[in-house]
Amino acid sequence: MSQPTPNSHGSPRQNDPAIRLLEKALLAAPEDWETRGYLLRHSIAVGDWARARALLTAAPCPATTEDDLLAQAKVEAEEDGDVAIRTLTALLERNKACAQAYLQWAEVLRGQGRHEEARKKYGAATLLNETLSTPDWEAWLTNTMPAPLPSVPPPKTAQTEYSVEAVTAEEIQAAVRDATEPAVPPITFKDIGGMTEVIERIRMNIIYPFKNPGVFQKFNRAAGGGILLYGPPGCGKTHIARATAGECRATFLSIAITDVLSKWTGESERHLHDLFETARRQAPAVLFIDEIDAIGMNRHDAGSSSSPLVNVLLTEMDGIAADNTNLMVLAATNSPWRVDNALRRPGRFDRVLFVPPPDAVGRAAILEISLRGMPHESLDLQKLAKQTDRFSGADLRAVVTRAAEQAILTEMQTGRESRLTQRMLTETIALMRPSTTEWLETARNYASYANRSGFYDELAAYLDR
Ligand code: ATP
Repeated sequence: MSQPTPNSHGSPRQNDPAIRLLEKALLAAPEDWETRGYLLRHSIAVGDWARARALLTAAPCPATTEDDLLAQAKVEAEEDGDVAIRTLTALLERNKACAQAYLQWAEVLRGQGRHEEARKKYGAATLLNETLSTPDWEAWLTNTMPAPLPSVPPPKTAQTEYSVEAVTAEEIQAAVRDATEPAVPPITFKDIGGMTEVIERIRMNIIYPFKNPGVFQKFNRAAGGGILLYGPPGCGKTHIARATAGECRATFLSIAITDVLSKWTGESERHLHDLFETARRQAPAVLFIDEIDAIGMNRHDAGSSSSPLVNVLLTEMDGIAADNTNLMVLAATNSPWRVDNALRRPGRFDRVLFVPPPDAVGRAAILEISLRGMPHESLDLQKLAKQTDRFSGADLRAVVTRAAEQAILTEMQTGRESRLTQRMLTETIALMRPSTTEWLETARNYASYANRSGFYDELAAYLDR
């Protein structure tokens, strides 16, 4: 395995002030895997294996995220491939579709001279994610593997050549099941700051029909249907979908369309259908489809295989072939302009709702929610709200998290109890930029020049305020 080497003037780690700062922060909070994981990956990138090993050994709690476990396995593989394989197996038990884990596994096996097994794992990795295929591996396969018997027709693509037992249809189905495993939604509208208009419309379209089916049936309105949420990232689309399910005590199933597309090319339509079937079986259910734009994204590209998915989605939503009573579909996108036109036509989603960045009242409420349970002095939230124009909900959460890190550091350094102060929050805000600005600038063009159908009316009204 070729690894980068540290530069000859000493470890790059020692020369990098940002890394030094992170190491200090890690000393103060050794259980913080976000920092440890970052340092671990950095050490691997610069080839500082001793440091990487030290970071692993000193961890007071195990890694849990996919990225951290992959980094851990990389370091372990340097010393003992079997230990790395154990970590990768544990990771794959949680996510059978983790292509990178299969690739690392293949690398370990190749290093151990277990060529046939390595070939299968590599096949699994590239089957799940063809961008992982590398010239190095392809050359190795050509040179190491025996040529196919003359009677066997030559494989046409990497996918057919390596469509191996390693990833069986059952395993893929299990991965879909895992990804859509219903979870009890832990939040309700009480956990949402601001968004009063969106909440009101969701109440009318989802909550009330769920709770008072009789009244709605009298007026020919059944519970169920579809709502498309669009807006800048981090402004609460996922959060509100989850809270909606919590409000109606419905099952919440969530999937990002990109998962279906990238992992199960060719099988995507069946899996989308399976997903709807699962949701119907568990009704009342809220099925949340994130990144809906990706479903029709390649429609105009030659050779695209995703356009049939749009038709499957429309058929499933129409409920012609199956009963969609008590099934609500919430879809979300940050790029409404990339959503397939067929999906944007009226009648496909009953409502299209713009989820804007929170206003001042909403920002104060989100800050208050984010501060729940944390020690802090008496705060002027209105003032903080004024300083955070165009900050998204996620930005505001980050403000609190970063300011809290400061308070933690202070407590660790002084040994005295610390709490969040107005000043810490204000200083953190001054260092941050709202993440919605760029989105709003792009969106302005669409609202001004591509709104003949009225699709962007709400967005246009917001921008004109
Ligand atoms: P993306 O488009 O990037 O998926 P999103 O619009 O779905 O983003 P969320 O994932 O729902 O945004 O929000 C990110 C996080 O920000 C949430 O987990 C939540 O902690 C916080 N947040 C966002 N909006 C709100 C809100 N209105 N009230 C409380 N918390 C919020």
